[in-house]
Amino acid sequence: MSGLSLNGITKQFGDFTAVDNVSLNVPHGTFLCLLGPSGCGKTTLLRMIAGLEEPSHGSIVIDDEDITTIPTHKRNLGMVFQSLALFPHLSVGENIAYPLRIRSRSKDEQVQRVDDLLKLIHLPGFADRPVAKLSGGQRQRVAIARALALSPRLFLLDEPLSALDAKLREAMQVELRQLQQKLGITTIVVTHDQREAMTMADMVVVMGEGRIRQAAPPVEIYRKPADAFVADFIGMTNLLPVEADGAGRATVLGTVIAGLALSNGVGKAQISIRPEDVRIAAPGNGAIAGTVTFVRDLGGTIETFVEAGGKTIISVATPRERPDVATGTQVGVVLPPECCVVLEK
Ligand code: ATP
Repeated sequence: MSGLSLNGITKQFGDFTAVDNVSLNVPHGTFLCLLGPSGCGKTTLLRMIAGLEEPSHGSIVIDDEDITTIPTHKRNLGMVFQSLALFPHLSVGENIAYPLRIRSRSKDEQVQRVDDLLKLIHLPGFADRPVAKLSGGQRQRVAIARALALSPRLFLLDEPLSALDAKLREAMQVELRQLQQKLGITTIVVTHDQREAMTMADMVVVMGEGRIRQAAPPVEIYRKPADAFVADFIGMTNLLPVEADGAGRATVLGTVIAGLALSNGVGKAQISIRPEDVRIAAPGNGAIAGTVTFVRDLGGTIETFVEAGGKTIISVATPRERPDVATGTQVGVVLPPECCVVLEK
């Protein structure tokens, strides 16, 4: 298969298993985000793909070539880490040309490539600038250009944008995605920022405790989380207990959710429902009865916290969609069955 294959990759540090039997196929040209809480093994997995760490078990294959034991410098990878590691005493052009220079590429080729890459990263004419005089975002782009200088077959980035302020980070996410699409290069980014992953990725891999919990396109991860861990990690969600009543109907907090199907024999399970899918209505009419305990008005959207049956349910709506309910109001909470994802244990 063209692209990257991880086959049963495990990494142990002494008795501790940092990455646990990870298998994954990444088709050529995919933008993949590795996402998960701190310590879940994202960086360790990326370092194994990069050849900076050797797997304890398993193999890594790129374009049908087994690279598991091939040293980093022979893998033809582009890498960017959070620290960027630009050479502060060199100019922008010298930084970008560095990988070409140490491989003794001709001066003409170096100049041409630097020129092309500077255009690509929207910094034309910056070749002679000292790196020390660049802004954070500009440095980021130079690090990316340097990593791409040798036209790598795989582009690996570890938390590349985490040092930037929120606004710049969002802009760079879009820029990085557009650049990747232009080049069609298979790209793997480690991040702990789910919004960043949703913005950039074709495929999101959510990891927990060294294992893959779900690998899917971002919207599928959001809409159809595989388990409570994924649902809770990606965006805001309501996790509520669901059980079958005597007639087999799905019941949440004592209220039957008409139209929600539970598979036969489901014991105790949970539903995940996103706050934007939860509707606040007048009490009665089969809605879950609750009391508004907190209202957070963020201008564009309003979050309403409702206490019902000992649980807090959050609803998010625009001011126009939402009934005007203040703290203390008795309300009905409507959970549209098609928006409830049943997570069976
Ligand atoms: P973060 O988001 O905090 O960077 P991560 O998901 O990238 O976390 P890793 O850096 O891959 O996590 O680490 C996974 C686990 O492996 C952690 O518990 C870490 O302490 C452990 N670990 C990583 N490298 C080593 C090492 N060289 N020796 C021992 N344990 C290690």
